[in-house]
Amino acid sequence: MRQLGIPALVLDKYDRPGDQWRGRYKSLCLHDPVWYDHLPYLPFPENWPVFAPKDKIGDWLEMYTRIMEVPYWSKTLCTSASYDDAAGEWTVNVERDGEPLVLRPKQLVMATGMSGKANIPNFPGMDRFEGDQHHSSAHPGPDAYAGKKAVVIGANNSAHDICGALWRSVPM
Ligand SMILES: Cc1cc2nc3c(=O)[nH]c(=O)nc-3n(C[C@H](O)[C@H](O)[C@H](O)COP(=O)(O)OP(=O)(O)OC[C@H]3O[C@@H](n4cnc5c(N)ncnc54)[C@H](O)[C@@H]3O)c2cc1C
Repeated sequence: MRQLGIPALVLDKYDRPGDQWRGRYKSLCLHDPVWYDHLPYLPFPENWPVFAPKDKIGDWLEMYTRIMEVPYWSKTLCTSASYDDAAGEWTVNVERDGEPLVLRPKQLVMATGMSGKANIPNFPGMDRFEGDQHHSSAHPGPDAYAGKKAVVIGANNSAHDICGALWRSVPM
């Protein structure tokens, strides 16, 4: 947007750019090789690991925001947005650090991410299950589970990462 001379503002509910990555499970490294994940103008350094750890990506995004001078409001939650046909603009309600505020941009991009909202299926008996239950986005890592039994439901990338880390934490 900046290169096109379009004034723009980026809002995110988290405290710091990159927190979406920092909050994920401890063992997470990017699933694509680093050369697929470059951001415009600033490629990742050549000595980076092929699969970059999540906190390294979080720090990169924060640094990128700062040195590329991205106009960025952190701690800003968008609570609703509607388009006013007559005025030709959006009404965007946000809470910036807890303070309500209304923005009226002409264009709105919703980049809230496809995996931002946890999809938790309903299994019979889960309300009575006494063990710990959580979605992969809230998985803290393997440390608390050493010596315990775990079931991971789902068979995609997060499940494989989490199983691998749990398996490595089995006491020898
Ligand atoms: C385990 C795992 C591994 C992955 N590995 C790779 C990889 O190697 N390469 C790759 O390209 N992709 C990978 N992905 C996918 C990756 O998440 C996306 O490519 C990338 O993060 C998408 O960026 P995004 O900005 O669209 O969404 P996100 O990174 O999800 O960001 C969405 C942002 O929207 C904010 N937000 C949501 N709702 C609101 C609201 N109401 N108000 C304010 N802010 C809000 C959130 O705080 C968040 O910061 C991986 C995903 C997972 C889960």
